[in-house]
Amino acid sequence: MTAQPSDSSAPAVLVTGGSRGIGRAICLELARCGYKVLINYLSNERAARETLDDVKEYSDGELVPFDVMDREAAASSVQRVVDSHQGLTALVNNAGVTRDGLFAMMKPDSWDTVMHTTLDGFFNVTRPMLKAMIRRRGGGIVSISSVSGMVGNRGQVNYSAAKAGLIGATQALSREVGRLGIRVNVVAPGLIETDMTKDVPRDSIRSMIPMARFGRADEVARTVRFLLSDDASYITGAVIPVTGGMA
Ligand code: NAP
Repeated sequence: MTAQPSDSSAPAVLVTGGSRGIGRAICLELARCGYKVLINYLSNERAARETLDDVKEYSDGELVPFDVMDREAAASSVQRVVDSHQGLTALVNNAGVTRDGLFAMMKPDSWDTVMHTTLDGFFNVTRPMLKAMIRRRGGGIVSISSVSGMVGNRGQVNYSAAKAGLIGATQALSREVGRLGIRVNVVAPGLIETDMTKDVPRDSIRSMIPMARFGRADEVARTVRFLLSDDASYITGAVIPVTGGMA
């Protein structure tokens, strides 16, 4: 699969939160496979430009900045990229945030920000993309949940609830659109080395991971690439843990 810069029918993917961390690794992995990569981010333009420069080593791409919490901005941005990229039939819902703290002390804003980013973000971006996928009779959606959404995590009631919601939404949507040739799956990472986990104490946590190390963003990205590929042609509604055995 090779994307030509001027070819609007070339396979294209929209990656939310593609500027840094796991999203950035997903952008590079998919660019290496020939996807044109549409890189969404919130505010870190410098990081997003670095990702774009690296994507262009392999394929083509462009920046698509918007806040996934902002319904109007997401709708107009997604509509614009759908209209200009006929080959856009893949979406990775990766944008995410944490606002950790014990539930009894949790501020409403910490609850709202995590819910809005994760669940409203899923709705705001996936729904307009899905309409295009239905018209084009096919597509692939992968959302990045978390092991916290599978088993819960102390200090992350908001994040665990949001990430579990992403799993429920994916499983339900897979039942609605499977017959249209649209596959919808979840990747649930454990602890991955990114900005999000830079303050997590390494030594105490490592002993809880059977593989005794944090994961790398590229290890998540390769699983996303697999789920979007024809190698996963009969996989939908699945939740794939990438956790080094942590559960
Ligand atoms: P990260 O390094 O903090 O990067 C977060 C990315 O999301 C950035 O690109 C950021 O954009 C973007 N973003 C945040 N809020 C946004 C919004 N409202 N609209 C658009 N983009 C937004 O995080 P990460 O560790 O790579 O995590 C990526 C995903 O994996 C998240 O969903 C996270 O919950 C999940 N996850 C991570 C881990 C882990 O251990 N790291 C484990 C399990 C699951 P800017 O650069 O503009 O700020």
